[in-house]
Amino acid sequence: MRKQIAAANWKMNLSLQESEALVSDLLKTDYSFTNNQLVLLAVPFPYLLNIQQKISGDNHFSVCSQNCAATENGAYTGEVSTQMLNGMGIGYSIIGHSERRLYYQEDNSTLANKINVSFKYGVQPVFCCGEPLEVREKNAQNDFVQLQLEESLFHLTEVQMTNFIIAYEPIWAIGTGRTATSDQAQHMHAHIRAVIEKKYGNDIATSVSILYGGSVKASNAKELFSLPDVDGGLVGGASLIASEFSEIIKSLKK
Ligand code: PEP
Repeated sequence: MRKQIAAANWKMNLSLQESEALVSDLLKTDYSFTNNQLVLLAVPFPYLLNIQQKISGDNHFSVCSQNCAATENGAYTGEVSTQMLNGMGIGYSIIGHSERRLYYQEDNSTLANKINVSFKYGVQPVFCCGEPLEVREKNAQNDFVQLQLEESLFHLTEVQMTNFIIAYEPIWAIGTGRTATSDQAQHMHAHIRAVIEKKYGNDIATSVSILYGGSVKASNAKELFSLPDVDGGLVGGASLIASEFSEIIKSLKK
């Protein structure tokens, strides 16, 4: 059974004290987790170990980095490698968030390299894809997202693709308060699964968790997460508020 995942993306927000208080508050709720449910906290690099320590002992919570380097090691000032993450016990990294694509010019081939070094050092990618507004307005979103998958992921082996995690995040819905409708989300998630099925077969496509991201809140999470091909969410703004994010966690499919 594929994982249902609530992933918090804190971006470049919160002081260390605020982030520890947020996690303490999140841990106060009884979520009655099932075995296939997971919460990821994508926290800023300097907080990874502190937050990992805070959640230790709760095997439904894991920390996640928000990015990683595309190369293994060397003279890349300011970068953080997957080898370093692995050495710190960090098992997940977001790769290809639209803010990285936009502000740091990360293209599909750079992201393929990040995916490769992630697998090499045992860090599970949470791969983001999604179209900008002008592509959606031309109704060209399916081809756009398919190309992102093909160019960054489709060199992976069947083993690597099994239980893979993708976040579909329409760029026009990120941080805008404008959420994709249930129809828009379900159509795209089904399309992503169909594209994976065509390349890797049904068993692998069924094992992939496809999260929705874009203005997920406590008030819309239940409806979005109940869609057949939506396996949870990647959440920005609402993940900074304990009461909101704990409701979002509770909205995961059982
Ligand atoms: C995100 O950061 O990936 C995101 C979806 O942000 P928000 O939930 O604020 O739209």
